[in-house]
Amino acid sequence: MAEKTEKKKEKTPRMPMPEQEPQIRARNFDEVPTGYTMEMAQAEASRCLQCRKPGCVEGCPVSVDIPGFIRLITEGDITGAIRNLWGKNALPAVCGRVCPQEIQCEGKCIVGKKGEPVAIGNLERFVADWERANGTGELPPTAPPTGKRVAVVGSGPSGLTVAGDLIAKGHDVTILEAFHKPGGVLVYGIPEFRLPKAIVAQEVNFLERLGVTVECNQVVGRTVSLDELFEDGFDAVYIGVGAGLPRFMNLPGENLVGILSANEYLTRANLMKAYKFPEVDTPIPLGKNVVVLGAGNVAMDSARTAMRLGAEKVRIVYRRSREEMPARNAEIHHAEEEGIELFLLSNPTKYLGNEKGRLTGMECIKMELGEPDDSGRRRPVPMEGSEFELECDLCIVAVGSGANPLLTSETPDMALNQWGYIIADESVGKTTKRGVWAGGDIVTGAATVILAMGAGRKAADSMHDYLTLGW
Ligand SMILES: Cc1cc2nc3c(=O)[nH]c(=O)nc-3n(C[C@H](O)[C@H](O)[C@H](O)COP(=O)(O)OP(=O)(O)OC[C@H]3O[C@@H](n4cnc5c(N)ncnc54)[C@H](O)[C@@H]3O)c2cc1C
Ligand code: SF4
Repeated sequence: MAEKTEKKKEKTPRMPMPEQEPQIRARNFDEVPTGYTMEMAQAEASRCLQCRKPGCVEGCPVSVDIPGFIRLITEGDITGAIRNLWGKNALPAVCGRVCPQEIQCEGKCIVGKKGEPVAIGNLERFVADWERANGTGELPPTAPPTGKRVAVVGSGPSGLTVAGDLIAKGHDVTILEAFHKPGGVLVYGIPEFRLPKAIVAQEVNFLERLGVTVECNQVVGRTVSLDELFEDGFDAVYIGVGAGLPRFMNLPGENLVGILSANEYLTRANLMKAYKFPEVDTPIPLGKNVVVLGAGNVAMDSARTAMRLGAEKVRIVYRRSREEMPARNAEIHHAEEEGIELFLLSNPTKYLGNEKGRLTGMECIKMELGEPDDSGRRRPVPMEGSEFELECDLCIVAVGSGANPLLTSETPDMALNQWGYIIADESVGKTTKRGVWAGGDIVTGAATVILAMGAGRKAADSMHDYLTLGW
């Protein structure tokens, strides 16, 4: 009987996520998926087999109790489900939207072996959104004040997690953020149509209501040094400054007008709200014929932003094949639906410009895949004599980013690796400088939201021990 029910569940199709139509959404910045209703969420939740040894939990970097919160959805106890989620994940509305579920929890879901995996991300998002719309907004209890002060440098997912965990343990927490708005990549990088900024603002507001102080426009390493923070009375510091330094390809012609980094493009569009023209008048280059270099989430976000800002043609140029594209499956699928073309197994060799110094196109070469390289992916090899030209008037470079040196270059007594990332103990995030922890992209290099949050949680536990027990 149980076996029959299991087979039935495996055969039940996954509940599709309602979305804006591609032709409509390709020209607006509203969120693409519109979210499950309660009925849809309960129908999807009922596909879960409630495994005794759940593969999904193994696949989750912060070990969310996935069968537990899904069972609470089937029972209609959404308040219980959000409490369950909060036990492991401080930002479920964010993670439900942006985690690469297909290689994490959903990639390990047993239902996915024979059919489509349970839509864990969509269910996580449903619970978090339901709480925002219907919850009482009550605050969880915090421990009595310890009298210890902690500075958190950077307000991305890593810094926000540390701040939330340490305020709950009774410490006095101040976040110092270089930009004029908190949220890190969640605000300056990931566009509104994927992650509405109101959600991030609400998470920050939640921390502020718990007692966290947020100070923006504070570039630590410039406006104040790490040592000065200790002199000012902070007992410990967490560094979560991310890896936002743009990287270029160093090709001939890179100084032509019309070539910019994805980092600058997305910051202008998102944080500086260029997409709200004429209400907001932030300058941003508007290409008609756009090429984006790279195939990660940053490239997809850039291409889809360019389309929404009025481009007639947007192409993604990537040197490997579709299989190796690092972006989330959903983003690639959405980009193609919106009319973005993929130019795979192609690599630019030089930019082409006119006498006014403006970009007019680029020369590319066809690639084929050779033996696997250090990353385990097959190495792209240029095919001799296969050069071709692509016309474009705007090129957005999204080929990775590096460690931001603003803070680290001013802190010589903290060890860095050869690429400028902070060396920190893998299990707890302790750096070589006393009283200083670090985590997220500034330690691992560009990674994911959930890994940055996981690093923050481990560091917060270790910092709490240091602040209360000393060592
Ligand atoms: C466009 C884009 C799309 C992405 N999409 C996804 C996705 O879909 N899914 C996913 O899981 N991951 C995605 N990522 C990656 C993910 O966002 C990052 O891995 C994650 O945000 C890293 O978190 P963090 O807290 O370490 O740093 P960040 O989010 O980078 O935050 C660092 C913060 O520190 C601040 N800061 C820097 N220097 C200083 C200083 N000296 N003083 C004070 N503050 C400072 C910065 O202004 C920033 O606010 C994406 C990244 C980008 C850029
Ligand atoms: S692996 Fe899939 S079916 Fe099993 S508990 Fe996790 S979500 Fe449910």
